[in-house]
Amino acid sequence: MPDSSAIGAFPVRPANLAPPAPVFPWPAPFTAAMFLSFDVDAESAWTGKDPAHAARLVTMSYGGFEARVGTPMLLELLRRLDLRATFFITGWTVEAHPAMAESILRAGHEIGHHGYHHLLPDPGAPHIAEELDRGFAVLKRRLGVVPQGYRAPSGEVCEELRAALVRRGIVYTSSFRDDVRPYRHVLADGTPGTVELPVTASYDDWLLGLTNRFSPRPIFPREHVLSIWKDELDETRDWGAMVTTVLHPQCSGRPMRLRLLREFLTYARSCRDLWIATGTEIAAHFLRHEAGAA
Ligand SMILES: [Zn+2]
Repeated sequence: MPDSSAIGAFPVRPANLAPPAPVFPWPAPFTAAMFLSFDVDAESAWTGKDPAHAARLVTMSYGGFEARVGTPMLLELLRRLDLRATFFITGWTVEAHPAMAESILRAGHEIGHHGYHHLLPDPGAPHIAEELDRGFAVLKRRLGVVPQGYRAPSGEVCEELRAALVRRGIVYTSSFRDDVRPYRHVLADGTPGTVELPVTASYDDWLLGLTNRFSPRPIFPREHVLSIWKDELDETRDWGAMVTTVLHPQCSGRPMRLRLLREFLTYARSCRDLWIATGTEIAAHFLRHEAGAA
C-alpha cells in the first residue's frame, strides 16, 4: 500500500513544468528529424545494477561483446551508410575499453555523457554528483571531449540531477518520454534547464532484443521490430516531429539485430524529408530558433 501521508505531500500540478514544445521548422529541405543515438554501457550496464555481477563472468560477457564485436560492427554500418550518430558512453567504459572509445571518436561521431558506473540517479542517491564529475573527468582526460549531451543511466532523472547538469554546462539531455519535439526544461525554481531531446520506448532495442537470466523475456524478430520502427517513424514524419533511437551495441551489434538495423537505417536514409542528426546538431538548431523567437 502507498504511504498516504507521502502521497498527500506532493503538489497538484504537472510533474514537468516545461510549456509545450515549440514547433520550429527543421532545416530545409527536411520536415522531420531522427536523433540517431547509442548508449555504450559495456559491462557497466550490469555492475551498475549490482556490483556483484562483476564476478559473474557470463553476465559480464554481455557487456564485453560491445568492445569485441558490437561497436566495431555498428561503426562499420554507420560508415557505409554515411551517417553520424551520438554515442552516450559511461566513464568506466572509456577507461576499460579505451580503443573502442577512441574508435568511436575517430569515426567522427559525437560522444555524450552517460555517468561513470551507470548508477541509477534516483532521488536522494548519494552518488549523483560523483557520477557526473568522474564521467566529465574521464571524457576530458582520455578523449579530450567536453560533452554537450547527457543521457541518464537507466533512463531516470530527478530534480537534483537536472540542476547539477545545468551547473556543469550540459546543453541537452535525452531521457524524458513526454514529447515528440525538443523543448526547454524548466527547473523547480523556475530557471531554465537543459534542452530535452525526448525518447520513446519504441526505439529502445534493450526492450525488444535482449534477454538474460536476470530478466528473461522473448526477443522479437525482424518483422516485428521493423514494423514498430517504421510505423513510429512514418507517423512521426507525418507529424513533422522527431524520433530518438536508444540503441546499445550489446544488443544492436548482434548479427540479426545489425541486419535489422541496417534495413531500418537504409529505409530512413531513403526518406528525403528526414534529417538524421546528432544530438548537438539538433540542440543547436533548437537554440537558434529559441534565440530568434525570444
Ligand atoms: Zn545505459
